[in-house]
Amino acid sequence: MKYDVVIVGSGPAGSVTGRFAAESGAKVLIIERRQEIGVPVLCGEGISRKIDDWNIIEGKRWIAGRMDGARIYSPDKTCVTLAAEQAGNETGYVIYRDIFDQELARRAIKAGVEYMMNTQAIGLLKKEDKIVGIKAKHFDEILEIEADIVVGADGVESKIGKWAGINTTLKPYDIETCAQYTLTNVDCNNNYCDFYLGNKIAPGGYVWVFPKRKDEANVGIGILGSLSEKGMALKLLDKFIADHPELKKGEPVRLIAGAAPVAEPVQTVKDNLILVGDAARHVDPITGGGLTTSLEGGKIAGHTIGNAVKKQRFDKETLSTYETSWKKAFGKKLHRNYVVKEIMLDFDDKTLNMLADSVKDYNFQEFSTLSLVKALVFKHPTLLKKLAPLIKLV
Ligand SMILES: Cc1cc2nc3c(=O)[nH]c(=O)nc-3n(C[C@H](O)[C@H](O)[C@H](O)COP(=O)(O)OP(=O)(O)OC[C@H]3O[C@@H](n4cnc5c(N)ncnc54)[C@H](O)[C@@H]3O)c2cc1C
Repeated sequence: MKYDVVIVGSGPAGSVTGRFAAESGAKVLIIERRQEIGVPVLCGEGISRKIDDWNIIEGKRWIAGRMDGARIYSPDKTCVTLAAEQAGNETGYVIYRDIFDQELARRAIKAGVEYMMNTQAIGLLKKEDKIVGIKAKHFDEILEIEADIVVGADGVESKIGKWAGINTTLKPYDIETCAQYTLTNVDCNNNYCDFYLGNKIAPGGYVWVFPKRKDEANVGIGILGSLSEKGMALKLLDKFIADHPELKKGEPVRLIAGAAPVAEPVQTVKDNLILVGDAARHVDPITGGGLTTSLEGGKIAGHTIGNAVKKQRFDKETLSTYETSWKKAFGKKLHRNYVVKEIMLDFDDKTLNMLADSVKDYNFQEFSTLSLVKALVFKHPTLLKKLAPLIKLV
């Protein structure tokens, strides 16, 4: 088997990379260890509406609900409301993630991408030291798939980067441990994605309630690995639900557990190799959301691969266009949000309450990090020292 590109992983990052590479003329194979694309769903299913402008997904079957904005609750329940455009990458639509991933794959297939399900990458194929493809297991058969470029789109547990000698190890400090119920028969007759902060509610993270319909919601929790212990995420989530009568009467139709990287991106390019999506740690370090960056990064990777195939050059220098372009598109924001994550980890519940109280009446139609920082420092000059690393970046 010989392809221009073999992509490991059929999530959003893999399918979008594959589609744009194929549309630029590359012969692409995507291998996926699961038996069905997008299943099981491991996601809160929130995404920004800015994807409407990206020509990445069509139709509406993947949309469960349109959100007006986000409400962020501090530990004392002070509420800060943000319009959808200001609320970050997880607010805009609540989606059916399984259908979403399958729609992305459909577009890729239309562009000529081949998919092989039930096929797990087990190592890189190398000639001397050069990457020349992937070794994979398809049921009991071991396959050797040759390709000029290997793409690691293999998610948070990514092995591809590691096999290629890139340090992708996540420290407990850089990973969110997550649990989520989809609860039915709850009261959530509103169009807001709700986020609950607090060191007792979710240490180093938050609880989210994303309505899928008026009586169904994804209710999940993420807590920082370094502040967590076994079983703690689910225990805290159960407590949160028990404390909220509008959720307590619900019953789960789905329970998932997973992890989200909240780290800085890794090196994403080597000779004959590209990393995209969660595998590249292209995830917002404040929220753990990575859908928009997987799509945006995947599109850039696909174009870069298309050009490389046209030129028949697969060295690091040629593929570096991808790294330069994603850094330009969203690299600065990921770095800034990593700094914000570190600052926020220092805040106790009292500070979180005070901050929410300070900005609850703020006009977020004009929201920007700079104006928010200015408003906070104006009200609380003592914050200047804590926010100093952030001020340098805005
Ligand atoms: C509980 C939870 C809630 C979340 N909620 C949100 C949210 O609301 N909004 C948001 O934007 N983000 C959210 N995220 C993050 C989001 O799900 C990821 O950022 C996104 O899925 C990344 O896409 P990806 O294509 O990089 O990886 P994935 O979607 O994880 O896809 C990777 C694929 O690679 C396959 N794979 C892995 N290893 C191999 C192998 N060796 N061989 C073959 N195939 C392999 C996997 O089976 C998988 O299909 C959440 C994450 C979690 C854990």
